[in-house]
Amino acid sequence: MARYSGPVCRLCRREGAKLFLKGSRCLSDKCAIERRNYPPGQHGRRRGRRPSDYQVQLREKQKVKRIYGIFERQFRKYFKEAAQRRGITGEDLLIGLERRLDNVVYRIGLALSRAHARQIVRHGHIQVNGGRIDIPSYQTSQGDLIAVAPGSKNNVEIKMAAENAAAVQTPNWLQADLDALQGSVVQLPTRVDIDIEIQEQLIVELYSK
Ligand code: SF4
Repeated sequence: MARYSGPVCRLCRREGAKLFLKGSRCLSDKCAIERRNYPPGQHGRRRGRRPSDYQVQLREKQKVKRIYGIFERQFRKYFKEAAQRRGITGEDLLIGLERRLDNVVYRIGLALSRAHARQIVRHGHIQVNGGRIDIPSYQTSQGDLIAVAPGSKNNVEIKMAAENAAAVQTPNWLQADLDALQGSVVQLPTRVDIDIEIQEQLIVELYSK
């Protein structure tokens, strides 16, 4: 399946929630959700019927997939791994996604969005503990040092992202040193560290059918 390459604000409007797919624009009053908070398309403004439980659960799953930019097959893999752990499956699912290298690069402030983070990881601009890692799904661990590779420190978009991120609070489980274009995983995230509005239990219910 090809990756969605259309206007990403439509995805937020479809879900009726901010998915933060466009970097600093998402925090401005230009955000499409602030201006047109109804589904896209010709019939977007029409009142539909009350959604079924299945539709609500499905939309919640789609929301998470779109936020992290992953496909169904990968998503199922994360779910399977979470279900095999002893903890709360929904929380473990989100924690597994949050530990992805592309997400950590974004959260530290080295990328404008998760999609941009995925791209700079793929292009070899990111090192973990001094070695180049070009796999966006790489699972980070406590103590990992994530840095922009020495040859990429003048990358204009990375520098712009770091400048924008200076005004944004870094999550508690991460530490950022934006002057040095690097950051580290202080501890593994818990559910309270993940500030996305998701009812993960609905996803567990969907996959438990
Ligand atoms: Fe979503 Fe960001 Fe577009 Fe707003 S600006 S609709 S949060 S992608």
